[in-house]
Amino acid sequence: MTNREFLPFALPDLGQEEIDEVVDSLKSGWVTTGPKAKRFESEFSEYLGGGLECIAVNSATSGLHLALEAIGVGPGDEVIIPSYTFTATAEVVRYLGATPVFVDVSKCDFNIAVSGIESAITPNTKAVIPVHFAGQSCEMDEILELAKKHNFRVIEDAAHALPTKYKSKLIGTLESDATVFSFYANKTMTTGEGGMLVTRNPDIAARCRIMRLHGISKDAFDRYTSNKPAWFYEVVAPGYKYNMPDIAASIGVHQLKRLTGFQKKRAEMAAFYSEKLKGLPLTLPHLMRETDQHAWHLYPVLLDSDSQVPRDQFIELMAERGIGCSVHFIPLHLHPFWKEAYKLKQEEFPVSQRLYENEVSLPLYTKMTEGDLERVVEAVKEILS
Ligand SMILES: *Cc1c(COP(=O)(O)O)cnc(C)c1O
Repeated sequence: MTNREFLPFALPDLGQEEIDEVVDSLKSGWVTTGPKAKRFESEFSEYLGGGLECIAVNSATSGLHLALEAIGVGPGDEVIIPSYTFTATAEVVRYLGATPVFVDVSKCDFNIAVSGIESAITPNTKAVIPVHFAGQSCEMDEILELAKKHNFRVIEDAAHALPTKYKSKLIGTLESDATVFSFYANKTMTTGEGGMLVTRNPDIAARCRIMRLHGISKDAFDRYTSNKPAWFYEVVAPGYKYNMPDIAASIGVHQLKRLTGFQKKRAEMAAFYSEKLKGLPLTLPHLMRETDQHAWHLYPVLLDSDSQVPRDQFIELMAERGIGCSVHFIPLHLHPFWKEAYKLKQEEFPVSQRLYENEVSLPLYTKMTEGDLERVVEAVKEILS
């Protein structure tokens, strides 16, 4: 036991630039969506290589909701999702009165199984939402091909996948209908709360921009700068309140500048873990293809059956050593609402179930020092030996 400070599971990495930019927004008086949200959108598009429509929203959940609405998901439609995800991926389908269809994940990358998607396809399949778990991309070629063949849409839940590459291409730049990133406090970059919807499709972009702000045909900033009278606006649909305020975008523009460095540091930290934890009764995460880039939002390990330490006890023993761990995910088929509403049975999700029972996410974030990493490694070794 040590009396060292508790090492939390996650912490944001915010610097003086972020603080100064927020103060600048506060002093400017423009605190809601305005010039900085616009700048954040265009810089985000540049980051991805340009030529993409980027729509800043107040969460990834909102972005997923907007994307599904824009492609016309509604009652009677089915949307295929993995069971091994966060509840947001499923709830947005319900917001629109459509039916989430839950499938198991692959034991190779913990991502939605292409064979699972294939067997879940029906004439009512409207879309699939692949989730790039931990920051490792899904089998996107296969998924996009299935979508073409069976005429359904692809909306990527990229909450963990910034910046992730699939076969040398950044997630967000593939041929999906839309990709949604999260800037929640514990993600690879943050705006406190926030998200970015990315699409190449101008119709989807136009619909999302309108629905993001009450179904008003122009956003507040445009209203105050266009040649129409400032008070004039038109409601063309019953929209939502999903816009990103400039205070959040102020943080975002500086986090974005640091993102490549963040990824590099996360990859180094992950490599450190992978090197030091070798030989223990653990299954360690790995990159699927040489040409991929892992965002390392999470470092998920699986306790092997011969580890002798049950998962829950492992997390307790880590906590006793002052180290915060987490579990990703409690699969949706185990949550009371999803389980009961869709009669989901554990046996239908053998991989998700096994992952859930054995998974531990070790702390991995850019504010951790080498000493912190060593401390985690020592604790894991002590517990497993
Ligand atoms: C965090 C997360 C979300 C939701 O992101 P918010 O920005 O908090 O709405 C969605 N999907 C997955 C897989 C997530 O981890």
